[in-house]
Amino acid sequence: MIVVQKYGGSSVGSTEKIAAVAKRIAGRAKEAQVVVVVSAMGDTTDEMISMAKALCAVPDEREMDKLLSTGEQASSALMAMALQELGQKAVSLTGGQAGIITERIQGRARILKIDGKRLKDELNKGNVVVVAGFQGITENASWADITTLGRGGSDTTAVALAAALNADKCEIYTDVDGVFTADPRIVPDAVKIDTISYEEMLEMAGQGARVMHSRAVELGQLYDVDILVANSAKAVPGTIITKEDPKMEVRNPVRGIAHDTDVTRFTVVAIPDQPGVAAKLFHAPAQANINVDVIVQNVSSEGCADISFTVADVDFEKAKKAIEPVVDELHAKDLLIDQTLAKVSIVGSGMRSNPGYADKMFQALASEGINILSIATSEIRITCLIEREKVKQAVRALHKVFELEKV
Ligand code: ADP
Ligand code: ASP
Ligand code: MG
Repeated sequence: MIVVQKYGGSSVGSTEKIAAVAKRIAGRAKEAQVVVVVSAMGDTTDEMISMAKALCAVPDEREMDKLLSTGEQASSALMAMALQELGQKAVSLTGGQAGIITERIQGRARILKIDGKRLKDELNKGNVVVVAGFQGITENASWADITTLGRGGSDTTAVALAAALNADKCEIYTDVDGVFTADPRIVPDAVKIDTISYEEMLEMAGQGARVMHSRAVELGQLYDVDILVANSAKAVPGTIITKEDPKMEVRNPVRGIAHDTDVTRFTVVAIPDQPGVAAKLFHAPAQANINVDVIVQNVSSEGCADISFTVADVDFEKAKKAIEPVVDELHAKDLLIDQTLAKVSIVGSGMRSNPGYADKMFQALASEGINILSIATSEIRITCLIEREKVKQAVRALHKVFELEKV
């Protein structure tokens, strides 16, 4: 039996915590071949980003990846040492050594393939293999560079390895008991969900529920890997992310509330309302590999329209650089940038066949005096853009209105 386990940053935040986690792993290694994926210790990644930004306003992306990948390399080596100290054979590997090949996109590379040979050899030698999360290497061996998979990407490393090794279990250990109906740090009576579909988890993660990296969920769905999310410090049942169960129909059609404060809104004021304008505008961020969300175009007047859209704060500088020349070229009147907003979303596959959820959501926000700036929907999600300072109030109000504490 092969088990892939991932331990997040707070679960390996000190040498004491590493030693405690090593004990759990060694116990598991008595009954299975274990691959462990670790994140960087505690706030290491944030601290390294601050150091880089103290030296230059926009750090070079290649050097940034090389720097950030060391956080996970350190924790993986320490974890291997802690296991060896317990008498458990262990070896640590960087992402590249573990055969994780990615595209050459710094800072958010996608995994192209995994060559599992070294991993299998090390497992067959009786080792627990500790892989540095959140990183890979580009393909060209003589010109290879270290890449990272994006913030929170160690989850993706774990699910990708589980798929590549055809593992029997994929377990993501973190600092909460599982996936909750909302961030338990914001909603005290949020309830742990026992089973959630890939689709719902993908929407939750995509809209800010950072307990899972959304690309990890995507890979789980693609390769049919059931993912357990559970607490690294407690032996309590977690949440299983798996295929939609038809029996799930009877439950609350809304499964959870997600929120995201990592939002920058761009508004392009008064651009010509003509065919090809939106195509030109959105080509620029797409070329720069920037995800664009909540796109709104208002009704045109005098042949011009305003188009607004959001990007993640981390992409702000890059997006601005990509968009400004197009805004000039299209002779737009202005480019407005707003970093005081947040997104709040309700998610649930049951909403697909039940009308009235948008109405209920908007009423709930209205009764809290929260203004909705724009709205975006999918079949199973409704997202509202609101003022950032009201986001916690919004999450709590929606959790209550949709009776999620009763799940
Ligand atoms: P790790 O370091 O283990 O990867 P993260 O900090 O990335 O952990 O993710 C865990 C955190 O996600 C929790 O501490 C919690 O505050 C937050 N979170 C946000 N939404 C949810 C949710 N719906 N369920 C559980 N946790 C959530
Ligand atoms: N250390 C990285 C981060 O903080 C990756 C991860 O923890 O998953 O984003
Ligand atoms: Mg995480």
